[in-house]
Amino acid sequence: MVGAGPVGGTLACRLAAAGVSTVVVDRAPLPPMEHPDFDGRAFAIAAGSRGLLDAAGLWDRLPEPTCPIEHIRVSDGRIGRPASRLFLHFDHRDTGEETDAFGWMVEARSLRVAINAHLHALPALRCIAPAEASVERHAEGATVRIAGGPNVACRLVVAAEGRNSPLRRQAGIPVTRLPYGQTGIVSAIAHERPHGNTALEHFLPSGPFAQLPMCAIPDAAHVSAIVWTERTPIAERVLAMDDSGFGREIARRLGNHLGAVRPIGRRWRYPLGALHAHRYFDTRLALIGDAAHGIHPIAGQGLNLGFRDAAALAEAVIEAVESGADPGAPDLLQRYQSARRPANLLMLAATDGLDRLFSTDNPLIRATRDLGIGAVHRMPGLKRMFMRQAMGRNVSVD
Ligand SMILES: Cc1cc2nc3c(=O)[nH]c(=O)nc-3n(C[C@H](O)[C@H](O)[C@H](O)COP(=O)(O)OP(=O)(O)OC[C@H]3O[C@@H](n4cnc5c(N)ncnc54)[C@H](O)[C@@H]3O)c2cc1C
Repeated sequence: MVGAGPVGGTLACRLAAAGVSTVVVDRAPLPPMEHPDFDGRAFAIAAGSRGLLDAAGLWDRLPEPTCPIEHIRVSDGRIGRPASRLFLHFDHRDTGEETDAFGWMVEARSLRVAINAHLHALPALRCIAPAEASVERHAEGATVRIAGGPNVACRLVVAAEGRNSPLRRQAGIPVTRLPYGQTGIVSAIAHERPHGNTALEHFLPSGPFAQLPMCAIPDAAHVSAIVWTERTPIAERVLAMDDSGFGREIARRLGNHLGAVRPIGRRWRYPLGALHAHRYFDTRLALIGDAAHGIHPIAGQGLNLGFRDAAALAEAVIEAVESGADPGAPDLLQRYQSARRPANLLMLAATDGLDRLFSTDNPLIRATRDLGIGAVHRMPGLKRMFMRQAMGRNVSVD
């Protein structure tokens, strides 16, 4: 495994938990990634992804409590007039499934702490970081040469190095990229009233604004994460504001249902763009997570897609190893690609389409959007399909 990020690290733990001998290499030192200043994101982990984290032994190692998302509210608005006449309300009890929530909010740092600890606790797993790795692949197998470390002979190399995957480039796998010219502003707020475990996605002409419920912290009883998408030049101005100006801009977009808001902690910026690899495999090589695809964070699904890749590849590899078959055989890799690529492409198209559809103030498009929102309201089958998608389940309209 090359890359011990959330997707590569989780797959390595999942394979090793099943007894599959695994080596994971990351070029960055892992402990600094646990520092609160390293990554300000909090991930909405879908119910489907929780199954993988459980099987990898990671869920119970999360050091911080997770906050359930029991309701999702989607609205179409304008700044200063956030509560659109039309909005969608999704309740996890309407999914027809026995589940406590659509998903759980997990801080990136918390996931990192769990992964780092577990990478060194499994007998079948060896973690080498920081280290540079070079890879030679041929039909019979592959060799990973680790600078200053051992050479590892293996039957499958997994590229999990994120969006700029060197292994993908080395294999000559083309990618399609969609720049958005938008920046994701990530921060946290304390607010006066409880969030009721409700996530809000508020579509504004310059990009979506999401408020995601978080657990209480020592000096604030009611806390939410903010993922606010803006065109990059505006985002730069917002990021440069003082705390009171920043808080005022958040309040204008959020509305007043949570009472007075106060920004807490620092702000992070993430340049946004989508990408998709034309193939997910090559000789003795599989791409997973952001090395294979990157999407707009509009629906909080990027990492969840990576987890679904990891779950599909883990299942195929564990089955092959247990039955004495080759875990890097071309037909296994082809099956992995067939299982994941169409679903990921569909999600990329859906998130890209949503961003384009809602990031406009054109009155005709606004009217069409409102018709669409009204239609979803009236069609319980369609509504259920959206809810199952948010939970990371297979979807069908009934
Ligand atoms: C603002 C924002 C909010 C988001 N919110 C959500 C959300 O709520 N839910 C969700 O599901 N997704 C979300 N995402 C998407 C999510 O962050 C990514 O999909 C996820 O981080 C991808 O994980 P990964 O392990 O594939 O890659 P990465 O996180 O990029 O990790 C790659 C790892 O590989 C290592 N590496 C890189 N190059 C090399 C090399 N040459 N050799 C060895 N190692 C290397 C790196 O050090 C790193 O550890 C969000 C994204 C953004 C920008």
